[in-house]
Amino acid sequence: MTEPSKRPYEPEPPPLPIRQVEGQEWWLWGFAVAVTLVLTFGILSLTFPGFRLPASGFYSLNLKEWVRGLAALVLLFDIYTVYQHLQLQRVRRRLAERDRLFQLITENAADMIAVVDGHGRRLYNSPAYQKVLGYGADELASTSSLEQVHPDDRDRVLEAAEKARLTGRGERLEYRIRHKDGSWRVLESTASAIPAQGGGTDGLVIVNRDITERKRVEALLAHQAFYDGLTNLPNRALLLDRLQRAMVISRRHSDFKFAVLFIDIDEFKVFNDSLGHEAGDDLLIQIAQRLKVSLRGVDTVSRPRPGKDIDPLPGESTLARPGGDEFVVLAEELHDPSDAIRISERLQERMTVPFTVNGHEIVVTAGIGIAFSDPNRTEAQDVLRDAEIAMYRAKHAGKARCEVFDNAMHVGAVQRLQLETDLRKALELDEFRVHYQPLVSLQNGQIVGFEGLSRWQRPQGIVMPGDFIKVADEIGLILAINRNLLREACEQLRRWHALFPSDPPLTFSANITAKQFAQGDLASQLGEILQQTGMDPRLIDLEITENIAMADAERSAIVLSELKALGVRLSIDDFGTGYSSLCRLQRFPVDTLKIDRTFISGMDQDIETHEMVRIIIMLAHNLGLKVVAEGIEKPEQMAMLKHLGCEMGQGYLFSKPVSADEIEKLLTSRFTTSASHTRAKAAGSPSD
Ligand code: C2E
Ligand code: MG
Ligand code: MG
Repeated sequence: MTEPSKRPYEPEPPPLPIRQVEGQEWWLWGFAVAVTLVLTFGILSLTFPGFRLPASGFYSLNLKEWVRGLAALVLLFDIYTVYQHLQLQRVRRRLAERDRLFQLITENAADMIAVVDGHGRRLYNSPAYQKVLGYGADELASTSSLEQVHPDDRDRVLEAAEKARLTGRGERLEYRIRHKDGSWRVLESTASAIPAQGGGTDGLVIVNRDITERKRVEALLAHQAFYDGLTNLPNRALLLDRLQRAMVISRRHSDFKFAVLFIDIDEFKVFNDSLGHEAGDDLLIQIAQRLKVSLRGVDTVSRPRPGKDIDPLPGESTLARPGGDEFVVLAEELHDPSDAIRISERLQERMTVPFTVNGHEIVVTAGIGIAFSDPNRTEAQDVLRDAEIAMYRAKHAGKARCEVFDNAMHVGAVQRLQLETDLRKALELDEFRVHYQPLVSLQNGQIVGFEGLSRWQRPQGIVMPGDFIKVADEIGLILAINRNLLREACEQLRRWHALFPSDPPLTFSANITAKQFAQGDLASQLGEILQQTGMDPRLIDLEITENIAMADAERSAIVLSELKALGVRLSIDDFGTGYSSLCRLQRFPVDTLKIDRTFISGMDQDIETHEMVRIIIMLAHNLGLKVVAEGIEKPEQMAMLKHLGCEMGQGYLFSKPVSADEIEKLLTSRFTTSASHTRAKAAGSPSD
């Protein structure tokens, strides 16, 4: 609180109690001297000759008594005076000590202490005023301190001062005051009334504390709690707060519509990893600015409408960054749901202008998911999650896509979440099994090896890989699933090698997914399993699809060479469904090409398909690759493939993928048949 005073600055006004004491003291001394003089004169006049009254017994006796009595009175009075003097000295010393203490406290206190009289005139200002506000004593004296108070706070200050004066008790008050350098300081002030002797107040003692720094830190903390440190955009907490507010309004006013646009930058991780995190941050800041500017643009962009040229798009939109490479727009007061799509298109269009980071030109695209205000949703995070689900769908569909949330998406997302949870549990419960599908030599019909295919054995039945491999791959669970599969299969193969020896020995093929292939230590992990199970690497075949190999051809060449160095064989799976470029495959150290089932199933019906299969086999052979035909179901297909020189086949014609027990039965029967053949041949009888 400030003291509205116009009186000059008086550093040391003589304290009132001392003045009173001193006044009393002079009066006392004067009175004592006067009484002493009068009494001395009286005694002398009665004692000295000339002053003698006629001698009579009565008078001389009375005179002596009078003199003695007067002398005793003088003595008593002087004793009293000396006693009073000593008392006064003690009081004066104590007051002087208190004065010194007051001086010491006020001079050294960091807080600004002011004393104002009953009329609000300034009686005292502690030196802290100069330290905190920069004003010297003279400057303070010549200005009204109310002038320095922020205009918006003046009424409050006056009101508080008045209240303190009336009630005798001041309340805590915060107000802004101008520093000599022109900046604003925040003061926290408390006033106490000085009680007057006859009741009421004599003035106020005001203690002002500079809390500017504390306020700044508090404001900073509050800002950090609600704003993203990198882009200075509202963070998730503030976004949810605004979203909740919008939801409340939309429940009250049915015509108030809003939309949430969930934006995710396509392949931001790639930029971040290749340019470094600092450059990644820079890119995010630029994207935030671009989006902000684009939204402002959207607000004023006109929308053609019959009869009207200009119809502004939604007024308020909040751009927030809930985290990572995600941005969210809360577009309020939509006229029509199509407004949200228009905003999304505008944002995507603006993003196509390249960004410059570290001198590199970078083109960024973003996937956008849109969720609209829905009266059935009560929680802000549910709406945000809907928009996020739609965003994932958009990203799934490709780059720079936009999807609007619908309920089917919600059901899909819930199912997907359930599947993820179930898959994790299944791994713990060891519910994954390996089924083996034989690979057969088309030249002699012998089983040469097996492809291992996963099956999820749930209590409610078997789940096929098509229904879980992709999700398992996306959540990284495939790594553990296939590690177990490979270990189990290697042990199984070793057992079959011992039971059913053949030349060459039975091989095993395993499928590799994108996630596995992207793993840095695929080769070393595989090497470890081979070593632990004692499996000959030459009998292992790893199948990767063309798409995986071609996604990052340079890296693939390195990984494939690492795998090759282990001694394993490599195959291209599902050939014909992806890039279908034998030329490009040439640079990879692969051994086998597996022609996709779709070609094989059509080759006996369609001459063109037959021709394509013929050419693929021919080109593969030219590149030194062996060929496996997938999905042979009919003897005619097998006959055609054999005729075209295809080395191996796989399909229901020979066997469906079955359990290890089934395979063992199959191998036993084949083994005994061929053994009896051999015996029969040896005995010279005709075999077939
Ligand atoms: P794939 O590697 O091309 O495996 C061949 C698929 O074709 C198998 O389907 C097999 O059952 C099926 N198939 C084989 N012969 C015939 C036939 O004559 N007719 C028909 N209609 N289908 C035939 P499955 O077991 O459903 O596996 C599907 C895909 O899932 C596999 O394709 C493979 O890419 C993937 N997969 C399966 N298990 C695993 C695994 O453990 N790890 C990985 N990474 N992928 C796996
Ligand atoms: Mg395969
Ligand atoms: Mg295949």
